[in-house]
Amino acid sequence: MDTMRPVIIAANWKMNTTPADAGELARTIAGRTREPDVLRVICPPSVCLAAVRDAVTGEGIGVGAQNLHHELAGAYTGEVSAPMLAGLVTWVILGHSERRRDAGETDALIGRKLGRAVEAGFRPILCVGELLDDRESGRATDVVRIQLAGALDGHDPATLRAAGLVIAYEPVWAIGTGRTASGADAGAMADAIRAALRDAGWGSAADDVPVLYGGSATSANIAEFLAEPGIDGALVGGASLKPDEMAGMVGRAAITAAARRAAGA
Ligand code: PEP
Repeated sequence: MDTMRPVIIAANWKMNTTPADAGELARTIAGRTREPDVLRVICPPSVCLAAVRDAVTGEGIGVGAQNLHHELAGAYTGEVSAPMLAGLVTWVILGHSERRRDAGETDALIGRKLGRAVEAGFRPILCVGELLDDRESGRATDVVRIQLAGALDGHDPATLRAAGLVIAYEPVWAIGTGRTASGADAGAMADAIRAALRDAGWGSAADDVPVLYGGSATSANIAEFLAEPGIDGALVGGASLKPDEMAGMVGRAAITAAARRAAGA
């Protein structure tokens, strides 16, 4: 049932903010987005996690990392592991296309990170999405299915479901470009993602997995995505650094959450 799924607005601050200004930005966003029915998550750079955690204490906002390492400790210069994030985060983004592109992350590696996230008790947001060429040549769904299968291989569906797995559908050509997918295409991909989960042995539990849209989402276009019954919110990059934008997006998400609650009542 759609009504069982939360409506989520997750902010990916990417490599923006510093420990000196992240807390203030998070506090401002918290104060402008108090909608109890919307699950809000802020994912700042790792060096800003403590500042953001402290700034949003008591606000009901989740704090997330943008990545974690697939090993627990060792000779991995510059990396951050799950045990290092304990006490700082309750969420983690995995497999973001910028990490696939810049750090060469493969589906198999992302799958190992997923295991670490679940072990640590972090709620994972697993990112998938096709390149423009894939979309234009009609391969978008196949690409996303392969990404999902690769990352989820070997993971027990019940364990991932209990961990609260969230999938973010982020067409790569829409990230940071000002270009977006259509609501209908995003909704169709959300359906395809849940169908892939069902095929992978999830059964009806696939219907409980939140699917977010990501890719140049703003307060001006988010309604188109939230109007899709299969889309449960957004993973937002650039616009998530602007309190006005966050207020607009969370406000619109609250309308969807209320409508779903009313439909389920
Ligand atoms: C993202 O970083 O996940 C993202 C969707 O970025 P943007 O909103 O800037 O396209």
